[in-house]
Amino acid sequence: MKHQPPPPPLPLTQPPSLSGGGGVSGGVAGSGSGSSSSSSSMVANAISSLNGNANSATSSQPTNNNHNNNIISSSRGSSFEAAKCRPPLYPKPKTPSFDKDRDYIGFATLPEQVHRKSVKRGFEFTLMVVGESGLGKSTLINSLFLGDLYKNRQMPNVEERIEKTTRVEKKTMDIEERGVRLRLTVVDTPGFGDAINCEDSWRVCTSYIDEQFRQYFTDESGLNRRNIQDNRVHCCLYFVPPWGHSLRQMDLDLIRRLHRKVNIVLVIGKADCLNKQEVRKLKERILQDLEDNHIQLYQFPECDSDEDDDFKQQDRELKASIPFAVVGSNTILEVAGKKVRGRQYPWGVVNVEDPEHSDFIKLRTFLISTHMQDLKDTTQDVHYENFRAQCISQISQHALRERGKLKRDSISSTNGFDAAISETDRLLLQKDEEIRRMQDMLTQMQEKLKQTHLMEMKKNDSVIDV
Ligand code: GDP
Repeated sequence: MKHQPPPPPLPLTQPPSLSGGGGVSGGVAGSGSGSSSSSSSMVANAISSLNGNANSATSSQPTNNNHNNNIISSSRGSSFEAAKCRPPLYPKPKTPSFDKDRDYIGFATLPEQVHRKSVKRGFEFTLMVVGESGLGKSTLINSLFLGDLYKNRQMPNVEERIEKTTRVEKKTMDIEERGVRLRLTVVDTPGFGDAINCEDSWRVCTSYIDEQFRQYFTDESGLNRRNIQDNRVHCCLYFVPPWGHSLRQMDLDLIRRLHRKVNIVLVIGKADCLNKQEVRKLKERILQDLEDNHIQLYQFPECDSDEDDDFKQQDRELKASIPFAVVGSNTILEVAGKKVRGRQYPWGVVNVEDPEHSDFIKLRTFLISTHMQDLKDTTQDVHYENFRAQCISQISQHALRERGKLKRDSISSTNGFDAAISETDRLLLQKDEEIRRMQDMLTQMQEKLKQTHLMEMKKNDSVIDV
């Protein structure tokens, strides 16, 4: 058999063609996915079939060391050995070794690029805290984020509390951890449930959440979409008192109105008032109440099957702890030579971070370490989408109504001879009339055609009959 010469390398400026694309994707399959040698050989076969002859491709393909055109030509002309050579799972993006890894295209660094960009931009998270005063909300927030967001807080007296309506107070702090910046906004609702008539307490919360969605919708539809500040509420911690038997009517009223607008996470405050069985019973009753009232709180996503066992176990424990029974404290105590965040009582110390004493660590893990991004994604993909869909349908309904009104106005003005009608309206009406006339003519013509056709058929039939 005649030995075929290898194809020449692609010119420097040639864009990736369909066949070139196949070569590239072959290289990716062997390199990016970390596949076995069988897929590497598939890659090699694909490459060699592109080159016309496997042997010639491996032996005589000129090496192209030019970094500018290496992507297509290197994967086309790479040898079997080169096809087997995989880039590391997390390749260094700055100095990709094109000489060694000829199948290395470079997009494996995309996660790293996204990571760097996100870190540079920083993160935003808005947490709403709802519950009556004295349930330990501010203490818990300070304990969670190791800050002091409530330095200048003023407590209202009894008369003020009776009169007081629910307000919304926003506090923002910038936190940095290992170079990652988080702009945390805590939306507090002082006065919630304090007034004798607390029916309107939920109204303040819902309108605040809607207002943020509306603002985001307006910003998104505007011109400068680059610098939109996301003030949407990503999570609402709703505090349930430990002294009830279950959820109160007031809790249900609020949760029912909020659960389709925001990710609600229920928290039993001051859980050190209850013993273990009491906590368990209260949790069961709360969950039952939610089910009976068809209320769906934030749904934890399913754990990915490729997560490690520890993570899966942690995920199971988090889900089983809902609603979180928490204890907060801003006091550091020394217990058995160790410094802990706790509450000192005459009979002992409640260690806030001890899972036997409270779900504080679980709440913190969930809120900050494992589910913060999912809370943001759910806000964007579910709650904001709902709001947006409602807005768009309202806008289109409004536009339709306006159009109908305009049409009616213009028709009535043509009927009244004394009313001066605009030239455009008159022309539009004329056109409408013309179209209507043409449609009538068309219908008449179709009718005539049909009749002629029928007559002809009858004639034919009579001819056959004869
Ligand atoms: P907020 O009005 O809901 O923000 O409640 P605060 O955080 O101001 O707490 C009110 C009081 O309860 C303060 O004296 C706190 O020290 C106390 N406290 C806060 N958290 C807890 C807790 O988990 N258990 C107990 N027993 N007391 C708490």
